[in-house]
Amino acid sequence: MSFARYIARGELARALDDMARGRVTYAPRREGDAVVFRPRAEGEEPLLARATVPPKGVIFPQSERLFAFIREKDPNDPGHTTVRLDSTVDIEPALIFGGRPCDARGFHIFDRVYLNGPHRDPYYAARREATVVVTPACTKAGSTCFCHWTGCGPADTTGSDILLTPVGTGADSGFVAVALTERGCAVLEQANLPEADTARSDAAQAVHAATRAALDAQSPAPDLSATPARLLERFPDTGFWRDMSDKCLSCGACTYLCPTCYCFNITDENDGGDGMRGRRLRSWDNCMSSLFTREASGHNPRMGKALRLRNRVGHKFSYYPQLHEGVVSCNGCGRCITGCPVSVDIREMVVRATEANEETPNA
Ligand code: SF4
Ligand code: SF4
Repeated sequence: MSFARYIARGELARALDDMARGRVTYAPRREGDAVVFRPRAEGEEPLLARATVPPKGVIFPQSERLFAFIREKDPNDPGHTTVRLDSTVDIEPALIFGGRPCDARGFHIFDRVYLNGPHRDPYYAARREATVVVTPACTKAGSTCFCHWTGCGPADTTGSDILLTPVGTGADSGFVAVALTERGCAVLEQANLPEADTARSDAAQAVHAATRAALDAQSPAPDLSATPARLLERFPDTGFWRDMSDKCLSCGACTYLCPTCYCFNITDENDGGDGMRGRRLRSWDNCMSSLFTREASGHNPRMGKALRLRNRVGHKFSYYPQLHEGVVSCNGCGRCITGCPVSVDIREMVVRATEANEETPNA
């Protein structure tokens, strides 16, 4: 199914316009100090900078209406109320350009839960199916990147429909675009581009190998094969988790910036104040907040931040892999490290939790 095309550097904006015909394109845009995904205008030169936030909100919005409700009293029996629901959802076909392989792999982590789990989520499924993901491969690793620890990598194709690899220099620079899915093939064919010749495809492979080697040199990947079991052994070691979480402010930034965090809250918002009409909303929530697990009785099984951080790390590196064929639900994008106001570093927690510890209590 996969085929390759060549996009000359000066042709990228035109090629994107053609690929995105009939779709809203979301691409990185600089706003103040941050780079965020915003709708791209036709002809706009795409920014190739790595975004501060992942593009997950395009498919899993920060807040979305699940349905509207209207309560109607029976005029002949005021004690009797009926509820009408309007669950129409407007889904626009979309194209995400400029997320990185770690971002695209984030959608794969979502897919396993919201598409292929026991309860298919119709809202997520509709947006995912209507969205094409076009991902530039990375050619340079940031100081907080550790994708190669997690099964991801600078040219990982998981979750993308098209992978673009920059090749060449100066006037001879461009991108080898490889379509990876039927959606990707259909979109790439719209752009009327020349085939990528063997030399250019070989150059793209060389770029992948060089980036991978640079990452390995910068931060050699530790052996994390024992991590899922070690994290479970660490579960009762609250002293360890207290040490790790002492400086945490419970602000939740790490979860909102994470391409793989998928928790949400449901609220009903009344329109008009009489409670007769309103909307049910689904909004991002985060497990680092003390309210996240508070039960109706007031009891909270994760009262302390040590227990909440333990859950966050344990979920990504132990519980999720155990439910999903060993797939780690962290892609090593490093955003939780760069975005944390007090420099909590998930790499340190994973490595320290994985080290054998004679003092870890057994129960
Ligand atoms: S971003 Fe840092 S301070 Fe905020 S909840 Fe996450 S670990 Fe704690
Ligand atoms: S846990 Fe941190 S490093 Fe891992 S995917 Fe989420 S934000 Fe990126």
